[in-house]
Amino acid sequence: MKPESTLVGAIRQRLVTATNIILSTHIRPDGDAVGSLLGLGLALENAGKKVKLVLADPVPANFRHLEGSRQITQSVKGEFDTFIIVDSSDQQRIGNILVDRQPDIQIDHHVTNLSYGKLNLVDPESVATSAILAEIIPQLGLEINPPIARALLTGIITDTIGFRTSNMTPQAMRLAADLMEQGADLPELYYRSLVQRSFTAARYWGMGLSTLQKKDRLIWATLTQVDRQLVGYNGNDDADLTNLLSSISESDIAVLFIEQKDEKVKISWRAQPGWDVSKIALNFGGGGHFAAAGAEVRGTLEEVQKRVLAATEAFLVGEYSNQSTV
Ligand code: 5GP
Ligand code: MN
Repeated sequence: MKPESTLVGAIRQRLVTATNIILSTHIRPDGDAVGSLLGLGLALENAGKKVKLVLADPVPANFRHLEGSRQITQSVKGEFDTFIIVDSSDQQRIGNILVDRQPDIQIDHHVTNLSYGKLNLVDPESVATSAILAEIIPQLGLEINPPIARALLTGIITDTIGFRTSNMTPQAMRLAADLMEQGADLPELYYRSLVQRSFTAARYWGMGLSTLQKKDRLIWATLTQVDRQLVGYNGNDDADLTNLLSSISESDIAVLFIEQKDEKVKISWRAQPGWDVSKIALNFGGGGHFAAAGAEVRGTLEEVQKRVLAATEAFLVGEYSNQSTV
């Protein structure tokens, strides 16, 4: 992204007139979603704006230590004049929040972004939405203080799985170094967001790992609602099991199925460099990046699994048709 681009200028202008802001991000929030929400939210608040941080799902335990996370609410109440979404490639993915209102500004780094806002700042080359924000917050005339630096560095650490995804760049390292200088403690944030996990999360992993299967270069695993109940895991996410699956060397693509309420299944794809799983995810109504993508599909676990595995197998052997599967 070009610094001080016209688009950043337009966002800056739009923010001048903003007094009451609603800021939101995607459901089942990851570190980049929470980091971007808090980073931009706190920066706007420090500039004297009224900001409501709205998130359909609770903040995962690994990120609750970040300043401002307790300010996040689950629904919109009251008046506002500006609606901003961060880190979400489509508007549906923020859940039932202001469904009929087009966001004034949306900032994201997903290659599958649908440009659904009035002002769309989308940079698919950026490792994280938090990295885009680390770059543009000063250009917007806002300041990065230590709590903001901690939120944004958390986003960069988590979306790059600790600086090791194939899209890492020297620029991303520089931004991370700047955030350290601005007050973020890298080892502490790294430990809290990527390494530390609860006893129940580890047992939940065990449930998923015991279902692991492999066919040629494809591996997959499943987490059911019963698994969550059995171990007492409270989230509706995968407790980061997907990233473990992606480390298994005998596969090119890993797929994780996470059964949800009301006959829906969350799917996560992870791919080795050279494969673009965002294409499959998009056809299933989701989105993401070349190497990491997801979707939520209606249907029973069994039928969704059948369709998704067939599509992913076809993709691996080069026989995937680009038709929408939703
Ligand atoms: P994960 O598999 O960890 O949930 O997500 C991998 C990537 O795909 C993330 O960048 C995430 O934002 C994106 N993603 C996951 N699920 C969905 C979805 O249902 N819709 C869209 N648009 N993107 C998704
Ligand atoms: Mn992200």
